[in-house]
Amino acid sequence: MNTIDHKDFEAVIGLEVHAQLLTQSKAFAPVAAQYGQAPNTQVSPLCLGHPGTLPLVNENLVRYIIKMGLATNCSIAPKSIFARKNYFYPDLPKGFQISQFETPICEGGYIDIEVEGYTKRIGITRIHMEEDAGKSIHDQDPYNTLVDLNRAGTPLIEIVSEPDLRTPQEAYAYLSKIKQIVQYLEVCDGNMEEGSLRCDANVSVRPRGREKFGTRTELKNMNSFRNVEKAIDFEIYRQIELIEAGGEVVQQTRLWDTSKMETRIMRSKEEAHDYRYFPEPDLPPIIVTNDLLDEIKAELPELAHVRQERFVAQYQLSEIDAVTLTENRYLADFFEELVSESGHVKASVSLVLSDVLRVLNEQSISIKEFPLSVQRLAELLDLRASDKVSSSAQQTIFNAMLEQDTSALELAEALNVLQVSDTNYMDDLVQQVIEANPDEAQRYREGKKQLMGFFVGQVMKASKGKANPKMANEFVRKYLD
Ligand code: ADP
Ligand code: MG
Repeated sequence: MNTIDHKDFEAVIGLEVHAQLLTQSKAFAPVAAQYGQAPNTQVSPLCLGHPGTLPLVNENLVRYIIKMGLATNCSIAPKSIFARKNYFYPDLPKGFQISQFETPICEGGYIDIEVEGYTKRIGITRIHMEEDAGKSIHDQDPYNTLVDLNRAGTPLIEIVSEPDLRTPQEAYAYLSKIKQIVQYLEVCDGNMEEGSLRCDANVSVRPRGREKFGTRTELKNMNSFRNVEKAIDFEIYRQIELIEAGGEVVQQTRLWDTSKMETRIMRSKEEAHDYRYFPEPDLPPIIVTNDLLDEIKAELPELAHVRQERFVAQYQLSEIDAVTLTENRYLADFFEELVSESGHVKASVSLVLSDVLRVLNEQSISIKEFPLSVQRLAELLDLRASDKVSSSAQQTIFNAMLEQDTSALELAEALNVLQVSDTNYMDDLVQQVIEANPDEAQRYREGKKQLMGFFVGQVMKASKGKANPKMANEFVRKYLD
């Protein structure tokens, strides 16, 4: 019988995240680095590993990683060097990757993550630069493995966390935060499904209360946030059960199998590569001057947590609304543009949080692809704020706008939902309604003031919903009081 309970164990998790940088060209070769091009159309003699070719550092690779380092509170090394990481694989013609080993450019940072109900600081051990390998394609030719070298030499940064994470939920929150930061900085698009953000997870367990870490396994092949969470969860229980059964965790690399929902062994420690790292002789050290640092600091955008606090202070938003609005940089931009265009803060908040977000979800699009301009939406909010349409008509017009990109006023006219505020019209209408309901009018005059609602309702009905309710109220009062 098991004498040890799962609760007696604690997991220790550290993540290694690779982010593909949004530079125009490759890391060390003057050739385009665009995603999704025809195979082997973005290669240069350098990517092919031709003898005699010499690498050249892409300036934006350095600038982007410094941005990331500053945004994650790292110290930036004034001098760092590149290293060769040697291994043999068909998608790596050079036989080595240019990377950084002993002196990464960014070290010793942290980010704060929010998990349900608490905030936690997670250490960043290091962030270094490297180049990607090409891609082996196994499923297009029945006999051969094909190689596409478009990706060979595209710039990556690797962000290594301290083993500070304790649960799969914390790992998920950490990864989400990294994604948010790279997107705010515009250094990476953060798309895990397309592979521009990749994550390896190191997982071990230890008896609760013990300081010494257990033996870890490294998980690979998780191509979504949910898979990272699930794979870590599976692995924690696999290790605990192994230990409970009297076994021992062995250091190995394991692959997450999405269809079977389990991790399985890829290679053991004995089969691990010896990369024979040595300093890259063809590239000079990277020198970061104070001037360069200042220049890049000045370019940093307002990051999500700062923006969130500002939203609460400046627009009196609730914490939760501010979090949702700043989750994505471009949604926050959109919201702020709408506020400045329309001048209506509250109405902008609810329009973005309910209607705009609903459309993004329904159509699976990002805010950048949202079909309506802030000018259009501002017109709509103005129409509503000046009481020319009711709140339900605002909704109708918004939906119609998605089908037909026309001004709110034109749509309101076409849909016949403009509220009537004409005084002569209201005079007639209210008088008719009062004449048609003499008993109620009598009772109202005798003091049954609750009948107000009844009269306003009748006026709205008689106008087919187009009367301005505020005016209806005033006019009923005028004739009855
Ligand atoms: P390697 O280069 O072999 O992958 P590192 O020392 O760079 O090894 O560690 C990689 C990651 O593993 C880091 O994120 C680190 O926090 C994490 N890590 C190290 N030891 C453990 C452990 N015992 N359990 C869980 N994670 C660990
Ligand atoms: Mg590793």
